[in-house]
Amino acid sequence: MQIKTLLNRLEKHKGFVYQSVQLIEENARLLLEVSVRPRKGSCPVCSVCGHEGPGYDALPPRRFEFVPLWGMVVFLVYAMRRVDCHTCGVKVEAVPWANGKHRQTKTYAWFLAAWAKRLSWSEVADAFHTSWHHVFTGVQMAVDWGRSHVNLDGVTAIGVDEMAWGRWHRYLTVVYQINEGQKRLIWIGRERTARTLLGFFRWFGKERSFRLEFICSDMWKPYLRVIAKKACGALHILDRFHIMAHMNKAIDKVRAEEARELKAKGYAPVLKGSRWLLLKRVENMTFRQIEKLAVVLRYNLRTVRAYLMKAEFQFFWEYKSHYFAGRFLDQWCERTMRSRIEPMKGVARMLRRHRQLILNWFRAKKAFSSGVVEGLNGKAKLITKRAYGFRTYKSLEIALYHALGQLPEPIFTHRFF
Ligand SMILES: [Zn+2]
Repeated sequence: MQIKTLLNRLEKHKGFVYQSVQLIEENARLLLEVSVRPRKGSCPVCSVCGHEGPGYDALPPRRFEFVPLWGMVVFLVYAMRRVDCHTCGVKVEAVPWANGKHRQTKTYAWFLAAWAKRLSWSEVADAFHTSWHHVFTGVQMAVDWGRSHVNLDGVTAIGVDEMAWGRWHRYLTVVYQINEGQKRLIWIGRERTARTLLGFFRWFGKERSFRLEFICSDMWKPYLRVIAKKACGALHILDRFHIMAHMNKAIDKVRAEEARELKAKGYAPVLKGSRWLLLKRVENMTFRQIEKLAVVLRYNLRTVRAYLMKAEFQFFWEYKSHYFAGRFLDQWCERTMRSRIEPMKGVARMLRRHRQLILNWFRAKKAFSSGVVEGLNGKAKLITKRAYGFRTYKSLEIALYHALGQLPEPIFTHRFF
């Protein structure tokens, strides 16, 4: 069987024929060149307006990278014609296998993009003897296509989250769909300002915002304001994951301060190495960690008292009725306000301020466990940290959409991946 036969079976383009296949050695590597020519009597299509027109001339042959075969790089070679278009003038023709000025075929771009879901971009580049930039272009094309075909029907529950990225603690805002049965990233915006989130609602549309039933978010003030204004019909929930994150931050602050004090006063460093023990959930600890935690808890330290306050607060999430949960919350805040541990008092004040939104979780029948947003948030963080070479916001945005957006793909006659 010939390679031409295979290509005709897998990827035929109307108006063009595969002419011949050549095996070439270049820079000590074997590669295949498949020459393509227009079918006899076919007219070129103007790349500007998309209409057929009479041929004008032909440019020198050009290589378009195709899916590699048996470790060999494969090129389609084609001399682009120019069209004498009666509306646009003399323009280069459009070809079905590539976009505009790209030197890779669409099929190859989809191929690279598919692999970029499983490997890092530089691993994909290595595996297929291509450049990081080619992989990037492939993923970008897949994301552009997917974003313009994305279906937002049935998005009635969303989670809004912020994320730090880059070296200078810049932020971005991400919006997830968190409906039962479909959880995915649907939007990313620069910064974490009110304007950022307004950008989301503009993109999402009035109609859909009106139909939102649940929104989970952090206590970040600009978000709260915008959500109250733009999605007044939805039940706004401050989720467990973010609340516990605030509490962990407070404990960490108490511990750091106290450890410094103890050291200054010349006491034994009992808090040394306790940082993660105090933040971790007990059920996720090893036996040795629990033993070590027990040692720390024997001391009458502010850190220990703060830790116990947090441990007690975990009961809050077990309540069934929002009324009793509310009573528990009030009592917890009252006790904490008397504790004289400033960072924990800060948490109590914050919880009091947002009492209503926190209790909304019980009104939503606890439908949105912290796991949903936490899981997506964890995956997103992993991607931003991976050594992909995300020096620009744009490439990070593309990587996040590609990995977490569950974007649609066109229907292929043959999948090369
Ligand atoms: Zn034209």
